[in-house]
Amino acid sequence: MDDDTPLAILNQLIRIPSQNPMGHDHRGPEWCEQGVSDWLCRFFVSHNIPHRYDQIEPGRGNVIAKLAGHPDRSTILLDAHQDTVPVAGMTIDPYQGIERDGRIWGRGACDVKGPMAAILSTVARLNREQARSHASLVVSMTCDEELGQKGAIDLVKRFDSGDNFLTPTPDLAIVAEPTELNVVVAHKGVLRWRIQTTGVAAHSSRPSLGQSAIYSMARLISGLEQLADELQTSGPDHPLCGRPTLSVGTIHGGESVNIVPERCVIEIDRRVVPGESFETILHQTRQALKNQCGIEFEMLPPDTSCEPLRDGENGTLAETLVRLTGQVAGSSQAIGVAFTTQAPKFAAAGLPTVVFGPGSIDQAHTKDEWIDIEQLNQGAEILYQVAKQL
Ligand SMILES: [Zn+2]
Repeated sequence: MDDDTPLAILNQLIRIPSQNPMGHDHRGPEWCEQGVSDWLCRFFVSHNIPHRYDQIEPGRGNVIAKLAGHPDRSTILLDAHQDTVPVAGMTIDPYQGIERDGRIWGRGACDVKGPMAAILSTVARLNREQARSHASLVVSMTCDEELGQKGAIDLVKRFDSGDNFLTPTPDLAIVAEPTELNVVVAHKGVLRWRIQTTGVAAHSSRPSLGQSAIYSMARLISGLEQLADELQTSGPDHPLCGRPTLSVGTIHGGESVNIVPERCVIEIDRRVVPGESFETILHQTRQALKNQCGIEFEMLPPDTSCEPLRDGENGTLAETLVRLTGQVAGSSQAIGVAFTTQAPKFAAAGLPTVVFGPGSIDQAHTKDEWIDIEQLNQGAEILYQVAKQL
């Protein structure tokens, strides 16, 4: 591993599958993060950088490394997730890392192995310099970002827990995601839950003896559609993130065409803007449906709840990053985005946190994912400047 350019590192990372099974029971070398974790440990061994592997479940864990810097300067957490979304349906070879048109193509190119390569390249570069010339770094390569964020949850639990390797707790966090070198200071969160209606099963030749859970659900869905429309026009309008959204993503109901359905379940995805509370959203949704539809239903406890990233809580980090990015890449701005990340987990632990990286979210999770090589290199240079100046 003597070539520590972002491009050389990314080429190796793309070749190692690390698909998140997304809750399914997929096994084998193409699934989960073990291959990438092993590669990362070898990378840090070969550079003589202190690190460790925190297993969270078999085949899945975080690789954490530390680079000591000047004792009077900041300790910066640089976080990138090891998992990618699945490769099914891709129209390019997901693992070949083809270079064409100034881009590298493959699964994870921009989300988030490219930004991870920028971090690793920076760490290798700083490791060749005097420790006193830069900030201290904690590098966390976390698992399971794409589904449950188990890696970030585990890492944050270890802050202030007497874990020597993570003492002192980092002062700041930069979470790598493809932001086109803009600095994300706010983003939406997400709340997902199910609603169930229960009817009375009957033979479909005599439907009057039963009560259809699907008919009841149809009325609820109309109510939800109306709520979604109202959010678009009168939901809280966040200056960087816009208004909240609501979408009904799945519906399952009925056992057979000749039975009046006894049960119907839908899944709701509600995007949350900074300032909204999960409890209030659930309460208001329940009340609105009750008032509008006048039918019995059950709201199940949320399956997913990711907090939004709140602006105004990152101190001067965003300002510094915008300035340094402007110097290296010409322009950058502090922005809000609609997608969620694990940054709020670090923010909740009290770390001023922003999301930043080369690559565009427009190419993340796509059938022909790619990253621009020039932007990849600029990303590494900016992180280097951050470590030199903070
Ligand atoms: Zn990502």
